[in-house]
Amino acid sequence: MTTISHWIDGATRTASGDATQPVHNPATGEVIAQLELGTVADVDVAVASAAAAFATWSQFSLSKRSTVLFRFRELLVANTHELALLVSREHGKVVSDAKGEIGRGLEVVEFACGLAQLLKGEYSEQAATGIDVFSVREPLGVVAGITPFNFPVMVPLWMAPMAIACGNAFILKPSERDPSAALFLADLWKQAGLPDGVFSVVQGDKTVVDALLHHPDVAAVSFVGSTPIARYIHATASARGKRVQALGGAKNHGVVLADADLDDAVDHLTAAAFGAAGERCMSLSVAVVEDSVADILVAKLAAKARAVKVTAGDQDGADMGPVITAAAKERIEGLIASAEAEGATVVVDGRGISVPGYEGGFFVGPTIVDHVNAEHTVYVEEVFGPVLDIVRVRDLAEAIEVINANPYGNGTAIFTASGEAARTFRRSVKVGMVGVNVPIPVPVAWHSFGGWKDSLFGESHVYGPDGVRFYTRGKVTTQRWPHREAERTAASFHFSA
Ligand code: NAD
Repeated sequence: MTTISHWIDGATRTASGDATQPVHNPATGEVIAQLELGTVADVDVAVASAAAAFATWSQFSLSKRSTVLFRFRELLVANTHELALLVSREHGKVVSDAKGEIGRGLEVVEFACGLAQLLKGEYSEQAATGIDVFSVREPLGVVAGITPFNFPVMVPLWMAPMAIACGNAFILKPSERDPSAALFLADLWKQAGLPDGVFSVVQGDKTVVDALLHHPDVAAVSFVGSTPIARYIHATASARGKRVQALGGAKNHGVVLADADLDDAVDHLTAAAFGAAGERCMSLSVAVVEDSVADILVAKLAAKARAVKVTAGDQDGADMGPVITAAAKERIEGLIASAEAEGATVVVDGRGISVPGYEGGFFVGPTIVDHVNAEHTVYVEEVFGPVLDIVRVRDLAEAIEVINANPYGNGTAIFTASGEAARTFRRSVKVGMVGVNVPIPVPVAWHSFGGWKDSLFGESHVYGPDGVRFYTRGKVTTQRWPHREAERTAASFHFSA
């Protein structure tokens, strides 16, 4: 049985305690490894190593830092297939989708390769007579990232390349459920020439998270995960004077207006609802459909959902793999049952499916629930599974009302042929990321990612320009070099221009 440990000071390190937790292959249900859970002492060792590494890494020239980032980029490309197989094995998603997540993470690495340009300061010559003023951004020190199970590569890569490019040392606390990708990335950083201690991995659960939140030498915390934990992380770390960005859960609505290309909308809704078994913070889990086209749209969606090939993520032709755990399967199936009990109509039912050859796997099939309203539990809860709710509305105005009444505000999309309707929608929805005929509008790396309302706590979005600001702080110098007796000014108690 494989044991999964920490990565501290540029090498694998065994946890100081005895606690372990099994890691499963969700497609078979088998235990494939034991994860060592970290302790407060392990966090202390990792932070001390990171603090020492920060002292040298932050002094590396910009060109030396970008050389490491470029090498890391090449290694990530060269190792994409192997890493995707690893992700699929522990997470369950199909291999092509795992490659997709690595590709989106790669974009952030490429953005971070431009660190010399990103960290350029601002200069005001002769701001006052003989006085120049300039602003620079300096790194924070040791920063931590706490990440969810659903993107074990992409989400760490939303954070680490940005933090490291800016001159910080980064400690990753990955999800307990698929912890191996973090170690794979650590090894690539080492091969890229990153000094030991600049990127570390501490495995574990709440104990490790709390130790990071309370450690006086951790300057900033980036978190991505569910809303209750995001809220807790933000409150706890902020109270200790740390900088925090905490991204939470989601309930993303895809609006379909009557004038949309319905076949195109159905294709995109199907992929956005059931891709990665619905375990994406940007999946479309609610279709908000104009009444006049709802019956035809639901019929087309049902036909597509029934054709989705559900099997292990590494099998040829797989569209969708299992969900992450047996508990997740049970919870999702319970939410489908609640929809039925509360009066919604289960049009396609993914409960109780059996996948040949993978009878022990945690599979839930694509599910469509029609006639859903805001009181139904399946709508109130973030299902985080392959379940698409259909909410029928009179018109665009009602669709916008439904979305704005929802406590989450991560992503949303509209399918329409009308530029005017799309513009009204874009300007009226209280959501951080909007797609117009684009189902999952995850911003490219040079625009930052982040939701509104209960989907994000803190001011900063992740990566892109916000990432640079989050992982640096400003310093402004006001400078005068008197060089001749005649230009020397007398000290004054008053501000003078
Ligand atoms: P989670 O909140 O259970 O776990 C996230 C991280 O927090 C993990 O590393 C976990 O170990 C840690 N954690 C869990 N419970 C904790 C506690 N009580 N105290 C301290 N730390 C704790 O989330 P998950 O199930 O791994 O991921 C799914 C969730 O993440 C969904 O809600 C999804 O919407 C969200 N998510 C959001 C985004 C986004 O960009 N907004 C992206 C991906 C996932």
